[in-house]
Amino acid sequence: MRLFNTASKTIETFKPQNPDNVKIYTCGPTVYDYAHVGNYTSYIYWDLLVRTLKANGYTPNRVLNLTDVGHLTSDADEGEDKLEKGARREKMTVWEIAQKYIDYYLENFRKLNLTEPNHICRATDFIEQDESLIDTLIEKGYTYETKDGIYFDTSKFSRYADFAHLDLEGLEAGARVEMNDKHNKTDFALWKFIQPGEDHAMRWDYKDRDGYPGWHIECSTIIHEVLGETIDIHTGGIDHIPIHHTNEIAQSESAFDKKFCNYWLHCNFITIDNQKISKSLGNTYTLEDLEQEGIKPLDFKMWVLSGHFQGTRNFSFEDLRAAGFRRLHWRNLAAKAFQLNQVEEHSEITQKVIDATSDNLNSAEAFAIIDQNSLSLSLTDWQKIDDLFGLGLIPEDIEDDIKYLIHEREEARKNHDFETADRIRDELAGSNISVLDSNDGPIWQFVI
Ligand code: AMP
Ligand code: ZN
Repeated sequence: MRLFNTASKTIETFKPQNPDNVKIYTCGPTVYDYAHVGNYTSYIYWDLLVRTLKANGYTPNRVLNLTDVGHLTSDADEGEDKLEKGARREKMTVWEIAQKYIDYYLENFRKLNLTEPNHICRATDFIEQDESLIDTLIEKGYTYETKDGIYFDTSKFSRYADFAHLDLEGLEAGARVEMNDKHNKTDFALWKFIQPGEDHAMRWDYKDRDGYPGWHIECSTIIHEVLGETIDIHTGGIDHIPIHHTNEIAQSESAFDKKFCNYWLHCNFITIDNQKISKSLGNTYTLEDLEQEGIKPLDFKMWVLSGHFQGTRNFSFEDLRAAGFRRLHWRNLAAKAFQLNQVEEHSEITQKVIDATSDNLNSAEAFAIIDQNSLSLSLTDWQKIDDLFGLGLIPEDIEDDIKYLIHEREEARKNHDFETADRIRDELAGSNISVLDSNDGPIWQFVI
């Protein structure tokens, strides 16, 4: 397998530390609001990564975290905690807000047929471990305390700028950053103290004061606790490169003196009408919004996978519908192979599909290979393809009453009772099934 590694900015051959335990970490959602199509885009690409690793014989061991504390409205240490803000907006407790959006997120995870991670970790379940990691950083002299919190001193970590190729001098001189008592603009909070009168419901006693963890520490902690010191692959959106992932590396490598991660994968952002997705532009579509337009979650997944994780992609309903038709076509070819019991394997084709995907997750190329060979594919081939993409291509055996109707229609036709045959055809259309009369006998198909 080959993967583009953000750390080296090149495509590298993937070599895991242990093929039977490929350690992967994905920065998960902040559970304060409905996730939008942009958020799901990233999780769809990481599902492709996991499935491609499996197709290459590796055993992934993947952790996904759920951020339920500490992520402020700005990725720097400014603004309000997103969970607290969500709780005020919906007049619920922060714990209720977290549970509501975790349930919502995981339900959609299933609708998108995304591989269940081996571990799903909530940030608030790791507070003690956060504290012990911060203790280590304090003991090693990487921190300082202000009235606002405990900060990581980025000037003490000499490689700080390397990962994201940051221009630290330019940053110091330029961008407006609320300094409070910070020593350097890039310094970040490991722990925030709750100020008198501050309305912050999630709080823990640490250093004899009430406070809560900074956003970045949870990922370093969870990775260390669940996966160990060096992981194979870390994924996230490109927005994570200059701050969040740079800070994770600084924390973990300073604390443990080991390389934190070997391969970094970052997906680009999708746009809608060539604009960024944002609440103020009113274009934050959820999966439910798409369903109301007749676009199924797996059609959306089909659209995402027809592009590349590093490309900028523009989202339009027209393109989504086209992806939906392409998926329908594939489902019907798989359904036909299923009805005709075509099981002969064409591994020369499916291997080409796997090889294309294994080349830096080029699912777009793999899709082109599928289209070129689609008429020759058997049920076994479609099953392999569906294992790789999780697009719901394989028909469950259709329900008995539909099978019965198809049989009755066939009998009516044989007896020249075309009135009954037509009535049954209309009844089947109500179940989104049509019947084609082919040389192989009647073949049912899905219709939209
Ligand atoms: P959040 O819940 O805000 O932490 O975001 C969850 C993930 O969604 C992050 O990895 C972001 O990088 C990613 N993300 C947010 N907006 C987009 C977008 N428009 N396109 C692709 N990924 C996005
Ligand atoms: Zn993270």
